[in-house]
Parts: sequence; C-alpha cells; structure tokens
Amino acid sequence: MQRIGFIGLGHMGGPMALNLLKAGLSLNVFDLMPEALEKARAAGANVAASALDAATDVDVVITMLPAGAHCEKVYLGESGLIQQLKAKGQSPLLIDCSTIAAETARKISGVAKAAGFAMLDAPVSGGTAGAAAGTLTFIVGADDADFEKAKPILEHMGKNVMHAGGHGAGQVAKICNNMLLAIHMIGTAEAIQMGVNLGLDPKVLSDIMFKSSGRNWSLEVYNPYPGVMENAPASRGYEGGFAVDLMNKDLGLATEAGIQSKSSTPMGGLAKALYQLHSRKGNGKLDFSSILQLFEEGVDGGH
Ligand code: NAD
Repeated sequence: MQRIGFIGLGHMGGPMALNLLKAGLSLNVFDLMPEALEKARAAGANVAASALDAATDVDVVITMLPAGAHCEKVYLGESGLIQQLKAKGQSPLLIDCSTIAAETARKISGVAKAAGFAMLDAPVSGGTAGAAAGTLTFIVGADDADFEKAKPILEHMGKNVMHAGGHGAGQVAKICNNMLLAIHMIGTAEAIQMGVNLGLDPKVLSDIMFKSSGRNWSLEVYNPYPGVMENAPASRGYEGGFAVDLMNKDLGLATEAGIQSKSSTPMGGLAKALYQLHSRKGNGKLDFSSILQLFEEGVDGGH
C-alpha cells in the first residue's frame, strides 16, 4: 500500500485527502487548523504534529497550500521538508497541487532536484465540488517519468490528469485557465444581472444561455445567481468555494506572467481590477462567484 503525507486540508485539500482514504491509501495529514485535522482523523487519517511528521516515512508528499509563500515555507530553507527529509535519508515523490507562480514552482523543484527528489507541479481545476467528487483536472508540469509515477495517485482524486510540459508548465496552463475563468464568471454575472434587471427569471435566462452560444462552465456548474443552482456557492451565501482573494492572487500571477511574456491581456487586467474592488468592499473571503454583487448594486444605491 502506498503511504501518502498530505499537507494543507482546506477547501480543496480536505476533500482531496478524503478521496485518497476512500481509495484505501494510508494517509498522514497536517494543517494549521485543528478543525481540518479533526475531520481527516474522523475519516481514518493519521494526524501528524507537523508538516515534517506528515512527510516522514511516506512514498509521496502532496501539498495543497494557499500561495507561493506558504509552499516556499513548507519546502525550502533549513527547516523545510527538502532539507529535513534529506537529513533523514528519505526522498519521497513531491507533488505540489497549490496554484503558485511558475517561477516559484521551478525554484522549489530545482532545489528538490539538486537534493535528489523528484517533484511535480500539479495544480487543479474543478472547484470544491470536483475535489469532493474526485473529478478534478490535474495540470502537471514534470519530467515524463515522474508524471507517469504520479498519475495513478492523482487519478484517485481526479478524472483528467494532463501533462502540460516540464517543471512550471502546469502552473502556466493553470494561470491561463484561471484568467479565462475570472473573465467568463464576470461576463456570466453581468449578463444574468442585466436580464434580471429587465424582468427575466434568472433560472430561465440561465437555461436559455446554457443552450445558446453563451454557454460556459460558470453557467453549467457554478451559476453565480442565488437559487439558480442548488449546489453552487451562490445558493449558500457564497460560502465554502474558491475565495475572491485566491482568485485575486491568481489574477496577480496572470498579470506577472503577461508582463514577463509581453502578452496583451486586457480582459485579464479588467477582471483583476473588478475582483480587487470586490475584495476591497470586504468580500475577500466569499466565493469568487459573489462578483455578481458588484452588478446587483442598483441604480438607487443598491444594497
Ligand atoms: P484554503 O485556504 O481553504 O486551504 C489552504 C489550507 O492550507 C488551509 O487549511 C491552511 O490552514 C493550510 N496551510 C497554510 N499554511 C500551512 C502550513 N504551513 N502547513 C500546513 N497547512 C497550511 O485554500 P483552498 O481553497 O483549499 O486552495 C488551495 C490552493 O488550491 C490554492 O492555491 C488555490 O488557488 C487552489 N485552488 C483552489 C480552488 C477552489 O475552488 N477553492 C480550485 C482550484 C485551485
């Protein structure tokens, strides 16, 4: 049986870890939040006292952390996993599923490689519902042989495991995807709200656009209008999905990638400005589909 160390049990990591347990793998887990650890313990995971404890005596380490700074802290430096595991003579396969800058991913995998570890960047798409259902898409940047090693493990948590290229390529593809996601979520929200302002039922309008040329993922599985889709964050007060501030982080990464590659990304730039404004209004922790609230604010001053 393969032994896995799983670090970061948040909105995504929590349900991903549960799917590894369901698949019968032995799992050590660590998070900074005691409630997240309790949930995993109840499902049969071994709760570790630190990230290093979780990563000790395992075949594979998986991290699902908020941003690049958290990944650098966990993996790099004297007290980081790479140095500490090397000192113990252990070299598990390292898989980072967080969404971070390609540059940071390459920096960490470079340090790992120099210390004798194989590492993959494997950010995901599919949202919290995909994480719970085990239907995520993994977007992997790695050497061919390491990709093949990681694939059967990732398949316990996702239905598509795609190889984007070498180290960092998974992050590049993920950032392109999330820039597009932000753009079509905002477009979907403004279109539905305009229809509602003109007297349409948001569900009827969504059904019509779903069967027309406006069809997109936000309409299909993540409708931003409350009450249209029972299982979408919009129907539970925009709680428990993909935070506005994490989308902001991804749009910041897209901006940096655009500057670096001299790419013109006007729609991505506008999406970032709108998400930043929405966050400044105090909505940083809400699900990103709550961007609809920006358009809901009525001509009479709104709410
Ligand atoms: P989250 O904030 O819910 O979870 C992150 C977890 O990491 C938290 O539980 C936190 O306590 C833990 N953590 C932070 N530092 C740690 C450390 N040093 N050691 C151990 N645990 C630590 O975030 P999330 O929504 O699960 O997202 C995680 C990553 O996945 C992000 O990079 C995000 O951009 C990406 N992502 C999220 C979604 C989504 O729908 N939420 C979808 C695709 C990708």
